Amino acid sequence: MKIEEFKGIVLSATDYSEASKILNVLTDKFGVIGIMAKGAKKVKSKFSSVSNPLIYGTFNVYYKDNKLSTLISVDVIDIFENIHKDLTKITYSNYLLDLFIQTSRQDNNCELFGLLRDALVKINKNINSKVITQIVEIKLLDYLGVSPKIDSCSLCGSSDNIVTLSSYSGGYICKNCFSDEKIVNSKTIKIIRQYYYVDISKISDIDIDKNVIFEIDDFLDDYYDRYTGLYLKSRGFLKKLNL
Ligand SMILES: [Zn+2]
Repeated sequence: MKIEEFKGIVLSATDYSEASKILNVLTDKFGVIGIMAKGAKKVKSKFSSVSNPLIYGTFNVYYKDNKLSTLISVDVIDIFENIHKDLTKITYSNYLLDLFIQTSRQDNNCELFGLLRDALVKINKNINSKVITQIVEIKLLDYLGVSPKIDSCSLCGSSDNIVTLSSYSGGYICKNCFSDEKIVNSKTIKIIRQYYYVDISKISDIDIDKNVIFEIDDFLDDYYDRYTGLYLKSRGFLKKLNL
């Protein structure tokens, strides 16, 4: 057992025994790991305030490979205060935490940490939660092993005359391959590709047509259902709230 230090974001916290909690933490060094926070349920514990979802900090732990590590300390970097004050932001963020837990089960990749951190930083800074979430959803498809084809036609590979987007075909469709797919706005075709390549940390302002957001949502909903095999309760919750 050795001491390790890394940056991490708490994805979930589960009660364990009378007094402790087990944290699921997305880290920049090991992907997602389980950390035992001894005594975290006690009000006076130094761990009680940091053993909650959305805590972002520098963690020190006794690290055990493929087993539960044990928490030594957390230096909090951000608690994402604005997210906690707003129902829309917290609902999207909870969905993201859920999505990252599930994605890490398929690919426990250290890169996931930066993606989640950047997304939460932007949502906390009042950048449109729905758009940030869509960008993350597009990017996560690579880690889920079902990358969309949005550089060229998903059927013939041509990059000319792209006319629409089809989740059934897995991405773009060109004029020659088009049969009876629904035609989406030309902006939707362009923007979904920008989403895929954009560096979230560089976004300072987003203004996207409602119709484009709607069409991308439609594509992603169907794509996730069709190819990822994920069942996300929190996504259903977003739909129910009509966010
Ligand atoms: Zn084609």
